[in-house]
Amino acid sequence: MEQTVVAAVKGIVGAEHVFDRFEDRYCYTYDASAVTAGKEGMPALVAYPGSAAEVSALLKLANEYKFPVIPRGAGSNVSGGSIPCAGALVMVLTRLNKIVGIDRKNMVAEVEAGVITAEFQTEVEKLGLFYPPDPASKAFSTMGGNVAECAGGPRGAKYGVTRDYVLGLEVVLPTGEIIKTGARTMKCVAGYDLTRLMTGSEGTLGVVTKVIVKLLPLPEAKKTMLAIFDDMEKAAETVARVFMAGVIPTTLELLDNIYIRNIEAAVNVGLPVEAEAVLLIEVDGDKEVLDKQVGIIEGICREQGATVKVARDAKEADELWVARRAAFAAVSRVRPTIIGEDCTVPRDKIPEMVRIIRAIADKFDIIIAVLGHAGDGNLHATILTDERDRDEMARVEKAAEEIFRATLAMDGTLTGEHGIGLVKKKYLPLEVGEGGMMAMRAIKRALDPNNILNPELV
Ligand SMILES: Cc1cc2nc3c(=O)[nH]c(=O)nc-3n(C[C@H](O)[C@H](O)[C@H](O)COP(=O)(O)OP(=O)(O)OC[C@H]3O[C@@H](n4cnc5c(N)ncnc54)[C@H](O)[C@@H]3O)c2cc1C
Repeated sequence: MEQTVVAAVKGIVGAEHVFDRFEDRYCYTYDASAVTAGKEGMPALVAYPGSAAEVSALLKLANEYKFPVIPRGAGSNVSGGSIPCAGALVMVLTRLNKIVGIDRKNMVAEVEAGVITAEFQTEVEKLGLFYPPDPASKAFSTMGGNVAECAGGPRGAKYGVTRDYVLGLEVVLPTGEIIKTGARTMKCVAGYDLTRLMTGSEGTLGVVTKVIVKLLPLPEAKKTMLAIFDDMEKAAETVARVFMAGVIPTTLELLDNIYIRNIEAAVNVGLPVEAEAVLLIEVDGDKEVLDKQVGIIEGICREQGATVKVARDAKEADELWVARRAAFAAVSRVRPTIIGEDCTVPRDKIPEMVRIIRAIADKFDIIIAVLGHAGDGNLHATILTDERDRDEMARVEKAAEEIFRATLAMDGTLTGEHGIGLVKKKYLPLEVGEGGMMAMRAIKRALDPNNILNPELV
């Protein structure tokens, strides 16, 4: 990057918010996916803007000098979405970290993009309100990153994903214009739905600087239970049965034996290490209805051959959640490289999908652990491998492709929450077809004529 450009970037955000040493730039060559930029993809500069106006000035500069810009929150995405390309400016949004306001009367809040999701939830809950989207990374992921990925989480079964809560955004377009989308109202149908277009656009169509979200009343109580199965397929079948019985659990998480054993070894909370699978189930709402819901779910799980343990108090429930949140870290004890696919299928296809994933693991002689936000059909087939083993990685690649094709054959989708990123870019046409790709590229070209923002993702 030319020194005049470096000086201009420093002039916009302040020299103390710009990093250009090799060691600093190297820290931004990877995210939580298995992809790294390597030397070829070294960013030229890392800048932390402090306002939408600074973001805008940086993007205008990028258009003038034609350098790529990679927006970044916490870098916790698992799809290679924030991997830079050579000569790029990595734009980190974490200085935009103010909760602008929580409007209790209208149950709406406004936050800057760099606010940490869990910190926002804590503030909201102090007022008796509730922001449901809860990616398992919420302790470090940012609200802007959640919007860009349309993040989901364990509570998605009942409450949906980020998209279902975003009412409006402040976005800086790739060419530098600052726009507002949506409104602070519950209804808004003025013009095209740019809020939805931006949500899930993975930092390719604009930089989110502010997010307006709707809130719900904080549920009065919740109950957490663990259903323990000695048959994986029975566990998988139970998922759709619970919904068919008219109960919508907040959470219905499926974990297989590989996960169970490794989580127990890591956090030691008394998980049943011999079990083939467990379902971690939570219901929330008014106290009076919880026992009834627990009773129905317990009945179904027992019919399916499970043993059920209902957490006696908040401490026991918290332990189960500590276990669940430790899941990804725990399985990294098995092999050093973790590839978390997030194929999503209609809920009643989960047993078939589990069967197929296991058959694919056998066929390619690799380890695939299964964890899923099964309540919304989102299965994280987790490939445990070692990226240094080229032979195994070649088999992993083939196995992943078979999983994707099987998912689409079941009317599923390549990603329920993690995004396409660099990781699944080459498979996207399989899902949306050439027509879909053409439409997406036309939108990208219209908003980003110089292909500035995250240029390698589209
Ligand atoms: C242990 C672990 C558990 C996880 N669990 C879940 C889960 O349960 N559900 C889930 O959905 N995901 C999960 N994830 C993935 C990840 O945390 C989410 O995708 C999250 O939304 C990323 O937020 P981030 O702030 O880290 O964004 P980053 O990873 O920094 O960026 C993600 C993408 O958004 C773009 N971007 C970032 N900020 C902005 C912005 N302000 N404006 C425009 N574009 C932007 C980036 O360019 C990139 O393409 C998990 C990850 C880990 C490591």
